Amino acid sequence: MSDFSAGDAGASLQPLDIAWAQFDRAADVIGLSDDMRAVLKKPKRTLAVSVPTRMDDGSITVFDGFRVQHNLARGPAKGGLRFHPGVTLNEVQALAFWMTWKCAVVNIPYGGGKGGVICNPKSMSQGELERMTRRFATELAPIIGPDKDIPAPDVYTNSQTMAWFMDTYSTLQGATTMGVVTGKPISAGGSLGRNEATARGCVFTIREAAKIKGIDLNTATVSIQGYGNAGSIAHTLIAEMGAKVVAVSDSRGGIYSPDGLHAEALQNFKRETGSVVGFPNTEAMGSADVLTVPCDILIPAALEKSIDERNAPNVQARIIAEAANGPTTPRADANFRERNIMVIPDILANAGGVTVSYFEWVQNLQSFYWDEDTVNQNLERIMTTSFNEVYETSQRYEIDMRTAAYVRAIERVVESTELRGMFP
Ligand code: GLU
Repeated sequence: MSDFSAGDAGASLQPLDIAWAQFDRAADVIGLSDDMRAVLKKPKRTLAVSVPTRMDDGSITVFDGFRVQHNLARGPAKGGLRFHPGVTLNEVQALAFWMTWKCAVVNIPYGGGKGGVICNPKSMSQGELERMTRRFATELAPIIGPDKDIPAPDVYTNSQTMAWFMDTYSTLQGATTMGVVTGKPISAGGSLGRNEATARGCVFTIREAAKIKGIDLNTATVSIQGYGNAGSIAHTLIAEMGAKVVAVSDSRGGIYSPDGLHAEALQNFKRETGSVVGFPNTEAMGSADVLTVPCDILIPAALEKSIDERNAPNVQARIIAEAANGPTTPRADANFRERNIMVIPDILANAGGVTVSYFEWVQNLQSFYWDEDTVNQNLERIMTTSFNEVYETSQRYEIDMRTAAYVRAIERVVESTELRGMFP
């Protein structure tokens, strides 16, 4: 187990340290052998590529990109592509690791993968982004494919990125290959409901958690850190259930209004101005301050490590639903266990995205498309069942929800690994 005696709030704590510490807690609960731990912790395959890209001014920038396939015991690798200046190989390996357990928690037939390019998409033109994405797809082509590894959107990538990616791969193959990525636009092989799926799945888990905690969503207050795809759509969906969103933030800052924030008006404001900051009749605060405002439910929907030992003791929510991957450090987790705050872990709370990615891939392979109700009903069934399985596991072993989610997931991956056996 990693040593956190020096504290976990600093920059030295790497995402993979957090991921492995979470895994080890669950491995201890089920008495997993050292051999199996070693097999399951290491990424199976890591590809590092250079992505030379012609910029609009005629110069060339060589970006660094990665794709990691963590575990393929239960099926092809699955997981998003992140374009962000803070991407590191360690981070991508942790994100791929989390995808393995996420897919196993909701019992969809994939292993875990993740990719990233170190870049700042906010300072790049559409043309630059397109050329970088197409070159990145070309560099990854040898290891991806509908039965090998299926990327999807993640932080600062979207359906347009996936359309370019699919088109590039199809061009290289000489055959339309819709199933190589998910999260595509509807008119380029996407699934209805995929864009909202991460948030919708997250809100289903909140609904189940609220029943257990005796919180009435009609009178509940919510704070959301991060206002991208997951955070902004979670705002709309949780407000539809009657809850009041009192604080939100994005990378530029936070806003607070005890009377509640109107989802559509705020989304229009962000579209026009580029940020939630400055939304009328709100109090301005720092991005991280929204984590500690008075509320019943907290949704971290930004990046890793936003909740650590420094701010965890000030969190006032009774339920934390991790729409982001890896937002809570192990010491923050320990604080929430002590205070009996229910953390719905990332590998469960945000699994709606990859679940509908699975539906998209199934539709692509069959060239037979579902209506949105079918997508949403199947998503609801999977999220509700998975939540309740994890909750029952947490009760049975008297462990927190994160450890219980890992226990469920590890049991499934171990079973596949043992049945397949080791080659040679
Ligand atoms: N990037 C998302 C995640 O972290 C979605 C992955 C996918 O759909 O493959 O779960």
